[in-house]
Amino acid sequence: MKLSVQQWIRPEIAALQAYHVADASGMVKLDAMENPFPLPPALQDELGARLGRVAINRYPDPAGAGLKPRLKAAFGIPDPSEVLLGNGSDELITLITQTLARPGAKLLALEPSFVMYRMNAILSGMDYVGVPLNADFSLNLDAMLAAIAEHQPAVVFISYPNNPTGNRYPRAAVEAIIAAAPGLVVVDEAYQAFADDSFMAQAGTVPNLLVLRTVSKVGLAGIRLGYAAGHPAWLAEIDKVRPPYNINVLTQEAAHFALDHLPLFDEQAHILRAERTRLAAALAALPQMTVFASEANFITCRLPGALAVFDALKANKILIKKLDGAHPLLQDCLRFTVGSPQENDALLAALYDILS
Ligand code: PMP
Repeated sequence: MKLSVQQWIRPEIAALQAYHVADASGMVKLDAMENPFPLPPALQDELGARLGRVAINRYPDPAGAGLKPRLKAAFGIPDPSEVLLGNGSDELITLITQTLARPGAKLLALEPSFVMYRMNAILSGMDYVGVPLNADFSLNLDAMLAAIAEHQPAVVFISYPNNPTGNRYPRAAVEAIIAAAPGLVVVDEAYQAFADDSFMAQAGTVPNLLVLRTVSKVGLAGIRLGYAAGHPAWLAEIDKVRPPYNINVLTQEAAHFALDHLPLFDEQAHILRAERTRLAAALAALPQMTVFASEANFITCRLPGALAVFDALKANKILIKKLDGAHPLLQDCLRFTVGSPQENDALLAALYDILS
């Protein structure tokens, strides 16, 4: 029998590339904005004991109701706002998009930014509108406001700070976008633990604002938990699209465990901020390296011959992210996740060797 998969697949899905994750076995892993610090052994034991007692024969708390008040208290989510949990903030991006998708509806995002905004627009059948950043990755507010006026998007996604460039736009520019947007504006604060500003205090009071967060960058990428805060009217609609029991029992218990040990994760973020400052200065001292300002746990740089440098680092068992090729504005760009002090030293030593 002839296998004819393609005839059943929507052409826009056939044209997509699956989200690519590089093989990192045996490598110093500086490609995916993870927190480099493993749990201390005593906490590994505590987590193991707690997970062992979880009732895996039962479905989880359906919407994570036990976690929500704790997240609100721990992360300054103000009272008028409701909270929605996702299997990573990736799932929340999908749920938001699916909720707003209908023929002709538009999703607008800055470019380059997190690739899943565009991917989800395409998957849900929305029209995607990308508004380019300036060449130095700053926000072109006039272009953004003109695009909002022209396209009347159902939803605007803003990564604040931005992945993959690392910068945070001026707060007033984002406020102007929220004020001008006719529909929902999602401020994606995946990197908030490393940034100097947040929109969380406005969640629930600014009617068309939804703030998205994740625990992935602060030490818990493996548990897959994201949360969204915003006006209850929006979240009630998005909640209808959420699959039942989307946060599994082990994730919920691990999140309670992490909330019991927040100072540890705060301390690690503090160390990573200091490492970011040190790494940025050392990278800037390398020949021909342009270092872009970062308020995230990664640093994006431009370097002539970036692809050869990426390959040479890989040969030295150091995995970073090559951005060149992902978008015209990212030509010759590489992204370095801020690692542990030892990992950053290994990266710098390898770069000195490669570039000298
Ligand atoms: N938003 C942004 C801006 C990101 O960079 C990422 C991860 N790369 C995500 C959301 C998704 O994070 P997660 O699904 O791990 O919560």
